[in-house]
Amino acid sequence: MTPSIHSKLPDVGTTIFTVISALAAEHNAINLGQGFPDFSMDSRLSNLVANAMNNGHNQYVHMNGLPLLRQRIAEKVQSLYNTSINPDSEITITPGGTYAIYTALTTILQKGDEVIVFEPAYDSYIPNIEINGAVAVPVPLLFPDYTIDWELVKQKITPKTKAIIINSPHNPTGSLLREIDIVALQQLVKDSGIFIISDEVYEHLVFDDKKHLSILKYPDLYERSFVCFSFGKTYHCTGWKMGYCIAPPAWMKEFRKVHQFNCFSCHSPVQFALAEFLQEKEAYLELGRSLQQKRDFFLEAMKPARFEALPSHGSYFQLYSYAGISDEKEYDFALRLVKECGVAAIPVSAFYKGGQENKVVRFCFAKKEETLEKAALLLRKL
Ligand code: GLN
Repeated sequence: MTPSIHSKLPDVGTTIFTVISALAAEHNAINLGQGFPDFSMDSRLSNLVANAMNNGHNQYVHMNGLPLLRQRIAEKVQSLYNTSINPDSEITITPGGTYAIYTALTTILQKGDEVIVFEPAYDSYIPNIEINGAVAVPVPLLFPDYTIDWELVKQKITPKTKAIIINSPHNPTGSLLREIDIVALQQLVKDSGIFIISDEVYEHLVFDDKKHLSILKYPDLYERSFVCFSFGKTYHCTGWKMGYCIAPPAWMKEFRKVHQFNCFSCHSPVQFALAEFLQEKEAYLELGRSLQQKRDFFLEAMKPARFEALPSHGSYFQLYSYAGISDEKEYDFALRLVKECGVAAIPVSAFYKGGQENKVVRFCFAKKEETLEKAALLLRKL
């Protein structure tokens, strides 16, 4: 007999980000698909990592993360969200935000549990749920503003609902949770056993004078939450795969049981560097403004094109409708964009389990202006 695998994810292929990035490379296209910057990160931070390595900070740090880094994160949370977090019992450093979300779901889910997921949803959520034997219950966001229909959410709640995943600023749409959404969420989960997994990796990428409403600001929500963050998205170093999760002590204790036998502890020199760089508040406070400039630059450059911009108030992403250009399905259109137009984008249908088609593609504008300019010139030819 030969070994065989009974797949835990039989319906899952390769993530759309890898597929599109590989195609972009193959066709030498400008890659506005996968969300990563093409400009340099702050050299103060990369120098701090080099110093940490050269100063011998190369062995394991504490499995929950370097204590000084956790303390600095707690200070940041206090100043931004006016919430007191205990760095010893409520913060764990993780290899990226995606890992933090996966670990949170693995910590709480049992076979048959249900998790509410808003679609379009970041493509790891549903596989993360299903690999734990649980069931994703998709709720569509309302097109074209991608707001939440809370009545619909209420209808989807059952005695098996274990968690609800929220994501603001939202990937792929750039929509934000509003005060009315927070109130609706508070009403919905009050007196229930429902956990909240809050994906806040784009917390600083908020535009148009809007505010990021972190779950950490609301004690009645935080008490049932795992809140996930990313240093990669904040400091333009997505390849570092460094993030963290914040949760109340009882939940974090269980989270760490999963984490300790999976990752154990994260890259040490980067943690020493981040602990120091978190002191430079302007580095994250200025982020929204600088990314907003990029969004506006791209919007302006795309004005003559036949694409129609949808609203984006945060994140790295701008959605465009191509309804005025083609009737193709989103994946086919994105394929043709890479091959014939020389620009890579992500079909938003990839963020729906059922493959919803709205003739919308996602562009990442976290790029140099010259990259955005070149891409827009090509897209204007369509
Ligand atoms: N978060 C990034 C995006 O949405 C990609 C991350 C990844 O490729 N796993 O494009």
